Amino acid sequence: MPLLADVAVPVPLSQAFTYEVPAALAGEVRPGARVLCEFHRRKLLGVVLAVSERSAAIDPSKIKPLAALVDARPALPAELLAFLQELAAYYFAPIGEVLRLALPAIEREQVRALKAQGELGGVLDLGRAKQVGGRKVAYASATDVVEEPGTLRGQAAAVLALLRANGEQPVARIEERFGNARSALKKLAERNLVALDEREPPRDPFFRRAEERDVPPELNAAQAEAAARIDAALAALAPSGGGEHPASTQKEPRPAGQEPRPAGQEPRPAGQEPRPAGQEPRPSAFLLFGVTGSGKTEVYLRAIKSCLDRGRGALVMVPEIALTPQLVARFRARFGDELAVLHSGLSDADRHAMWASLHVGKVRVAIGARSALFAPVPDLGLILVDEEHDGSFKQEEGVRYHARDMALLRAHRAGAVCVLGSATPSIESVALVRRGKLAELRLPDRAHREASLPEVSLVDLRRFRAGPSGDPLISLPLHRALEKTLAAKEQAILFLNRRGFAPSVVCGSCGTLTTCDACSVALTYHRGRRRDPRPPSPGGAPAPAAPLDERPEGGRLRCHYCDYAGPLPDRCGACGARNLLLEGLGTERLEATIAGSFPEARVARLDRDVAGKDRSQAILARMREGKIDILVGTQMVTKGHDLPNVTLVGVVNADAALGLPDFRAAERGFQLLVQVAGRAGRRDRPGRVLIQTRNPEHPAIAFAAAHDVPGFLEREIREREEVGYPPATRLALLRIDAVDESVGRGAAAKLAAHARTCPEGAARRVEVLGPSAAPIARLRGRYRFRVLLRARDRGPLRGALAALTGLIRDGLDRNARVIIDVDPVAML
Ligand code: ADP
Ligand code: ZN
Repeated sequence: MPLLADVAVPVPLSQAFTYEVPAALAGEVRPGARVLCEFHRRKLLGVVLAVSERSAAIDPSKIKPLAALVDARPALPAELLAFLQELAAYYFAPIGEVLRLALPAIEREQVRALKAQGELGGVLDLGRAKQVGGRKVAYASATDVVEEPGTLRGQAAAVLALLRANGEQPVARIEERFGNARSALKKLAERNLVALDEREPPRDPFFRRAEERDVPPELNAAQAEAAARIDAALAALAPSGGGEHPASTQKEPRPAGQEPRPAGQEPRPAGQEPRPAGQEPRPSAFLLFGVTGSGKTEVYLRAIKSCLDRGRGALVMVPEIALTPQLVARFRARFGDELAVLHSGLSDADRHAMWASLHVGKVRVAIGARSALFAPVPDLGLILVDEEHDGSFKQEEGVRYHARDMALLRAHRAGAVCVLGSATPSIESVALVRRGKLAELRLPDRAHREASLPEVSLVDLRRFRAGPSGDPLISLPLHRALEKTLAAKEQAILFLNRRGFAPSVVCGSCGTLTTCDACSVALTYHRGRRRDPRPPSPGGAPAPAAPLDERPEGGRLRCHYCDYAGPLPDRCGACGARNLLLEGLGTERLEATIAGSFPEARVARLDRDVAGKDRSQAILARMREGKIDILVGTQMVTKGHDLPNVTLVGVVNADAALGLPDFRAAERGFQLLVQVAGRAGRRDRPGRVLIQTRNPEHPAIAFAAAHDVPGFLEREIREREEVGYPPATRLALLRIDAVDESVGRGAAAKLAAHARTCPEGAARRVEVLGPSAAPIARLRGRYRFRVLLRARDRGPLRGALAALTGLIRDGLDRNARVIIDVDPVAML
């Protein structure tokens, strides 16, 4: 029987393809290794999913041999490979695209080896793949020098002939063929017939600078209890695989050309695993619910230590690593070089170096944002997800996975412990606790003995007028509180979740809103960088809308959804009046207004417009060093920063986030408020929070003001139950878009009709909502529609999606694009 390999190739198809393993590669081709294979007359870089000796299910003469093996050691360890296959099945995503999320760059050395085999002719994919250098490698090549005839004999002559015939070769490869290669090469190099070249390994920034080791603090009672329960779960894990990846031993025959898991048979995150009744297993997944500043990080550090002590690796996921340098520094201080830090600022070479040090087991702890989910952590024993409620864990393009849900799945499959941590847990995680799928660990108090939760007051914007700045959004109470903070030489944070100078530009004559040509959204006016930030109208009180002639030069209109940026027109596009008004307050304008009202204060801004690669870290560092008095910013100021001297937090406009047409709007608004409030009073000085709103009765605001997280969660869960949204139900969103409105509408209608008539739809096990236009009806020049599928249970939902995949693949207008979004987060 032939030896066959199932190979996933980078095409948008869900199945694998069967190739024959040539005799020369038998025993070397293993699951998880990359191979070159011919696919429709092109050569593609694929990944071996399985290898087995079996008779082919299709005509053997049609099975092609693998062209070449790229990885001697499989790039994807068995554990990771199996997880990726489950992830692909869960999200109805093409396996080739999913594997790409986890594959490292190709090493130049590998490319050279393939070239030497003559295997790179016609390879499409490799050209696009990133190439990086691996270890330091010696290469030999023939020079232009010609030897005296008859002066070379034996191996020296043969080596030179080989180099002349095949071009540059790694010395190691020559040594494999010629026992005396080293002395032959030396002789050849002495006569300048051969040039030897050694290439440096990439520099690796995280191993350069040694962070000073810290002394772990003594845990308080709640922390100790949490750490002990995680430790007990780690102790109960099955013994580790023992260093070597078990990839080579995995021989899992699978029918050729079939999905790794038949559709409809569902893989589930750990939390949703059905368990035999009456058999309560020891919990291995936890929700660490600790108020802001309660010392969750210290619990993470202990958990990792205990994991490492048991010989296993750990993975830490954080929302945005660029915003959490302090957190990373604390991990570095505890684990030193045992930590790989994965982030988007890494060069390809450095990223690969990180990947490689995990892959070979040199480093066993990885920390990073969403994409760290795919790090090849050896002998995975623990996954931590910090700020698990954070929206950034959902990838909103390409493979739309949720890194928190998938962390539970990966941990479960790997036999590892998973800990989700937050001060404002997601409703989904709280629901898992209620169903007994996650064990809850609570840290009810702030870790610093003197620190208490800040006092929160609501400022009803309907009752209070503008303070001295004249801007109605800087109320008198907020103004006074800022004055007090400055007088006490303390620091303040002002949070406003709108970037730019003015969120909208409206015609004062006809009322027309200036919108993006490509998207159905308002354009935001950005004033851009200026040397001295002054208020828009010096001295006097600026009106909420500044007339045209008072606007500074150099501003641009920007679309926050596409890349559009253009000049501010001097007249209204609709009626031609020269009467355009800048309306509303963005962070840029807030910064300028505050700087004008408090001329002595050092004011800075943190939002996506100022936060280049290292800028956000620099601004936060200045804040920590006390070189900033008032920090103005968007969501970026809310994320987990531990800034001891901040005693005032002002939420400038709490209503801005609550009105969105999204069933999670209240939850998200609540989380933002609690998180930003949590920045105040983290040490001995008591903190104060002012929340400005026109809607003080809104539950998200009222519960946040009362620090009542459990109360809000309780109410929100009931609310979701009543309206039938997750976690009470399961959703899948079909996102349809097209340049031509009618094409998009037609495809959406066809999908909805099909969903209604498929068995699950017809039996009403799946409810079909739509088709309808998306809340943002047009984006980047494409009209957007959607069909929402809703079900009590995941099984029927998967059944309906499976029934739709055929239609999506080849039953719709080619100009319509359809994306399946399982467990959607962004509803706009
Ligand atoms: P969280 O992540 O829950 O917001 P942190 O881990 O940032 O909280 O802890 C808040 C502060 O308390 C930090 O400055 C941390 O060093 C300190 N801290 C944590 N645990 C202890 C402890 N057991 N004893 C003293 N200080 C602690
Ligand atoms: Zn746009």
